[in-house]
Amino acid sequence: MPNNHDTSYSDILRYISSLQKTNPNTVVDIETQPDSLGRNMFRCMFLSYAASRRAFMHSPQVIIICGNYLNWRTRSFLIVAEGIDVERQQFPLAFGVLDGDNTSSWKWFLTKLATIFEDRPELTIFSPRFDFTLQTLSLQFPLAEKAVCIRQLLLNIQQSYRNPEITGLVQRASYEYSKRRFLACYKEIKKMSPHCEQYLKRLGFERWSMAFSNGYRFDVYSAEVNDLRHLSRQNSIMGLLHYIHWHVSSQFTWRYGKAMEHQGYVSPYIEGLISKRTPTFDSWGFLKVSDYSCEVVNTNGESFLVDLDRKSCSCVALQKMLVPCEHSLVAAQNLGISPLTLVGSVYSTAQWLKTYSEYLQPYLKFRTMR
Ligand SMILES: [Zn+2]
Repeated sequence: MPNNHDTSYSDILRYISSLQKTNPNTVVDIETQPDSLGRNMFRCMFLSYAASRRAFMHSPQVIIICGNYLNWRTRSFLIVAEGIDVERQQFPLAFGVLDGDNTSSWKWFLTKLATIFEDRPELTIFSPRFDFTLQTLSLQFPLAEKAVCIRQLLLNIQQSYRNPEITGLVQRASYEYSKRRFLACYKEIKKMSPHCEQYLKRLGFERWSMAFSNGYRFDVYSAEVNDLRHLSRQNSIMGLLHYIHWHVSSQFTWRYGKAMEHQGYVSPYIEGLISKRTPTFDSWGFLKVSDYSCEVVNTNGESFLVDLDRKSCSCVALQKMLVPCEHSLVAAQNLGISPLTLVGSVYSTAQWLKTYSEYLQPYLKFRTMR
C-alpha cells in the first residue's frame, strides 16, 4: 500500500493530467523534493487556467496579488493573482502554493507569472506589501507600473504616526488626480510630519498616487484579494484544487449569464458611476469654445477645460480613468453629446461578455484513469 504522501502526490499528477486534457493550455507547474526515504514530496505548485488568461485580454490591465498561509499543518503559503472585470469584480488569474512566505517563494511565483503575462508599461500590478515582495515584483516586471495597496498604506501610516489628520491627508493626496492638488496635500503632510513625508518620498509618488501613476489604475485602491479567505480554508492540496476549479467555473458561468442579460452599451457599474457623478447642471457655469470643447466652472468657482473630441479634461481624471468626470458630463450635456462616447471601450458590455465567454471544462474523473 502506498503511504499517504505517495497517494496524495500521485493523485495530484492524475488530476493535473486530466485538467490539462480537458482545458488545453492550462499552465501547471509542480516541484517536488525527496524526503529522507527518497520519496517524491510535494513542494510547490503554480496553476493558471487558459480561460483566465483569455479573460484578462478583455479586461482592464490590472493585476492584484495577495498571499496568505493555508489552513494546513505544514506552513504552506498561498499566493493568488487576480484581474478585475468591467464590473470591478475580481477573477482569478493564477494560484501558487509555496513552502513559506519568503523571498524565494515570491520570486518563484512571480517568475512563473512573468512567463504568461507580458511585462509592459500598460500593465499595472498591485503589490500586497512594501517589503521584498515589491522589490521582487520590480525585478520580474521591470516595465509594468508597480502600485501599492493604498488601504494598506493608510493602515501603516495610522499605526506609525497615530494621527488621523496625517492619515486623512495621505488619503486625500493619494486619491487626487491633479498634481497641483496632490502637491498641496503633500505640503501639509510635510508640515505636520517631516518623517512621514520622507517615508512617502522614499516609497515613490508613482506607487501610491493617482496623480503621479504613469499607467492606468482604473480607480483601484485596494490590493486585497476577495477569494483568499475561502481558498486558504481548504485543508489539503486536492481539496484546494477541486475548490479552485469549482469556484472559477461557477464564477465564469454566472457572470457570463449576467453580461448576457444586460442591455446597456456599458456595464452596470459604469452606468451607476455616470449617474452618481452627474451634477445638477443648472448650478455650473459653461462657456463653449468649439463644437467639442468648452470651459466649465463648478459651484466652488473652479474652472476646467474639457475637450470631448480628445476625451480630455484639465482635471485629468477622464484620461486616467477612461470614465467621464463630472466636468466632462456637464460639457457633454451642454454640447449635446452622449456621455457614453467618453467611456473607454474596455468598459463596454461587449468586453464584459468576452471576458467570461470561455467556460472551464469539467475535468475527467481522474480516479477512472488509473
Ligand atoms: Zn474633469
